[in-house]
Amino acid sequence: MTESSQTRETFRVLALGGDHIGPEVVAAGLDVLRHIANLSGIDVEIDEDLLGGASFDVHGTFCTDAVLEKARAADATLVGAVGGPEWDGLRLDGPVTQSDGLTRLRVELDVYNALRPARAWSKIPDRTPFRPEIIDGADLLVVRENSGGIYYGEPRGRELLADGQERAFEISEYRTGEIERIARCAFEAARTRRGKLASLDKSNVMESGKLWRETVERIGQQDYPDIELTHLLMDHALYAVTMAPRNYDVLLADNLFGDLISDMTGAIAGSLGMLPSATLPAATIKGQRIRGGIYEPTHGSAPDIAGKGIANPVGTILSVGMMLQYGLGRPDLADAIEAAVETVVDDGVLTPDLGGIATTAEVTAAVMDALSNSET
Ligand code: NAD
Repeated sequence: MTESSQTRETFRVLALGGDHIGPEVVAAGLDVLRHIANLSGIDVEIDEDLLGGASFDVHGTFCTDAVLEKARAADATLVGAVGGPEWDGLRLDGPVTQSDGLTRLRVELDVYNALRPARAWSKIPDRTPFRPEIIDGADLLVVRENSGGIYYGEPRGRELLADGQERAFEISEYRTGEIERIARCAFEAARTRRGKLASLDKSNVMESGKLWRETVERIGQQDYPDIELTHLLMDHALYAVTMAPRNYDVLLADNLFGDLISDMTGAIAGSLGMLPSATLPAATIKGQRIRGGIYEPTHGSAPDIAGKGIANPVGTILSVGMMLQYGLGRPDLADAIEAAVETVVDDGVLTPDLGGIATTAEVTAAVMDALSNSET
């Protein structure tokens, strides 16, 4: 964890806690960021602001223009989670970006490449529905297209029909270029891992799924013959990955299907609270740094446990690791954070979602201790 030989620079981070447990887990992530920065001789500058319902209550908008500009100027943005029953029912006029601050941030920063790793932790198999022999060693990366598809397709809306019924609708659409760029992200990620890519779609029934499969296949044949590519229908993928998670390495999916399968992988990790993510405006190519990424745990704002000090901070802490890997170009620091989390899990310092009694603060302190100890 030594200081990089490059010229010392300041790594600028925007931190947006969001709602409910969001600020609690972001505080934990920032503690670990400051700690590892101290240990490694990195200058970090942190600016904190509001997003989601917290922003709406103060500014009347879920993401202000000022926050957007700060995110554009930052090297990386750390987000907790947004939303809650207070705001989820609000329907503002205009596109979905008006009603969801995180979505606005993602769209405006064009962070289309969402990387969502999930792994088994060998000391907590009893927290998963799997037998150890099924998941020991399971290590997956979901690559989710994050700026197109059914969540953003226009037109969308609701209308009253002549017969008195309501009709609600949205469009699932993808252009070739959108599929090509996310496919390249997945192939590049597979190159840095075990060289296997499974692409998920519903090409049997959806036109966008047919274009998805043809495009991924073409990019694979043209530019990535070294990667073992398979295609799975999304419904079967949920079954196949659940039955034999160790058979899979990188899973590529569109916005909706990626959303679904990445939550499912939380069962492999033992809790939704264990899952980190990086959402990036480019493919991750070894040795290259990426500015302008958003790093966040996969889970939501968990209103049911907010304010109790028991939120699992690991997803956010591992997201800080991904931030250092991709935003700062220091994969060694991401490895150090993951190793520290492994020590803490092995020592049984676990929040209640994993069957433990530790608080958010205790898990965070234990991770920082493990980082300090790995220095000696
Ligand atoms: P959720 O992920 O917030 O919670 C699901 C369950 O997992 C809850 O029982 C919760 O207590 C638990 N959980 C989640 N994160 C945890 C953690 N770190 N530690 C311990 N337990 C944890 O999903 P939900 O209940 O469906 O949604 C709640 C709110 O979050 C909604 O408003 C939803 O729109 C929003 N949401 C936001 C994001 C995001 O900001 N990226 C993602 C999903 C949901």
